[in-house]
Amino acid sequence: MLVRIIFAAMNISFTKQEQVIFEQIGAVAARLNMPCYLIGGFVRDKIIGRPVKDADIVCLGDGIELANAYAASLNPKPMVAFFKNFGTAQIKFNDFEIEFVGARKESYQQDSRKPAVEEGTIEDDQNRRDFTMNALAISLNSHDFGALSDPFNGIEAIASGLIKTPLEPIQTFSDDPLRMLRAIRFATQLGFSIEANTFKAIGENIHRMKIVSQERITDELNKIMLSEKPSIGWDLLWKSGLLKVILPQMLDLHGAVYIDGKGHKDNFYHTLEVLDNIAVHTHHLWLRWAALLHDIGKPATKKFEEGHGWTFHGHEVVGARMVPKIFGRLKLPLHEPMKYVQKLVLLHLRPISLTKENITDSAVRRLLFDAGDEIEDLMTLCSADITSKNKQKVKRYLQNFELVKERMIQVEETDRVRNWQPPISGELVMEVFGLTPGKNVGIIKDAIREAILDGIIPNQFEAAYEFMLEKGEGLNLKPVK
Ligand code: ATP
Repeated sequence: MLVRIIFAAMNISFTKQEQVIFEQIGAVAARLNMPCYLIGGFVRDKIIGRPVKDADIVCLGDGIELANAYAASLNPKPMVAFFKNFGTAQIKFNDFEIEFVGARKESYQQDSRKPAVEEGTIEDDQNRRDFTMNALAISLNSHDFGALSDPFNGIEAIASGLIKTPLEPIQTFSDDPLRMLRAIRFATQLGFSIEANTFKAIGENIHRMKIVSQERITDELNKIMLSEKPSIGWDLLWKSGLLKVILPQMLDLHGAVYIDGKGHKDNFYHTLEVLDNIAVHTHHLWLRWAALLHDIGKPATKKFEEGHGWTFHGHEVVGARMVPKIFGRLKLPLHEPMKYVQKLVLLHLRPISLTKENITDSAVRRLLFDAGDEIEDLMTLCSADITSKNKQKVKRYLQNFELVKERMIQVEETDRVRNWQPPISGELVMEVFGLTPGKNVGIIKDAIREAILDGIIPNQFEAAYEFMLEKGEGLNLKPVK
């Protein structure tokens, strides 16, 4: 028996556009004798009060037929994209997308998360949903338009911020283990808790993750990364045991070791703090990934040195080398995004080291040159990396950082080294000394670049040309023109 609550009595309402669209779909469906319902994320988000961009409609019959008939009733007629194999159809309006599908019943095989499907009732369709909050449906039929059907107390779960499966969780997760990650992703996005039995069932189904494609997993990870507080998701991945099969390198960051009473930070929780810090300042997905991976080289470089305590020398270099493998494993894009993250991981200590010494122009110039376009993002990462329980210490570091930023602006204004190409090209070196491509060309070019970055010569053509001639002489080269 379905619990029916009149939609209007709840604190949810359609926009004018939604009301017009849904009434019309209801009328077309009545003509086809195909009762239909809004279902899933749209209903959930309306109740929570989150913005919605798309709506799923389930009908008792053929979803593609309903979509086509609805499109034909409109002027101008919108495009219908349909996928015959899945029995789904989509209609896109400017900022709103509607998906149509027939109600179905599912049965799962052991080796696949793709079920065998057959036609079903609306109740069957609600039973196959992943969480009680996602099984809510709203009728679009004229006799009870707006009536809410809530077979599993989804409203109550939403009110108490709980994620739970409609049916037995161990079976639900074993059938489709992607649901475990969806639970963690929703917990992160909505700030909800995962109900105790449901969470326990995740721990018991870790081995089932092997039937989920990496693309699906990574899709969920990216949604976690783009949430307001991504640490929630990574912490749940760790606590549930999923982290071990998803990103074991992160697992090694966990825990603090003590020798002679000296410990180091728990690098896992430090990393999560940095990730949340950066999420306050940017929605840039790859900058957030850089925050997650910035210390990934620490476990491999960890050493206890007598008299010094714990050190992680070179962890930025080791970490940068690990980035391609991690991106490969997660099937994240290996071109620009990977290089970007790798660069930030490699450079993440440089701005901090500048605050510890007397800042020389040449050190600032070098950083501007090495970071190029990524300098602002690098500074954002480094500010986020300053975590300490001592608020005074954090404040002092951040103030020093502001000084570094000011110096950067001054140096950039006079020297323009950011995105800079040295004034003497390899072609010119070859032309002047009559050389073919080879070692000496590289030596001269590098020497000119280093001399400019160190402030030995100004960043000007004439000075660089003179320096090239001197350097050539040192290599027993004679100008041919
Ligand atoms: P979001 O748009 O934020 O991802 P959503 O809930 O709309 O949230 P979709 O992936 O669009 O997520 O799925 C729509 C609905 O389909 C869900 O609300 C849920 O009812 C159902 N659903 C999606 N994936 C699954 C799954 N793996 N198992 C069971 N039901 C699912």
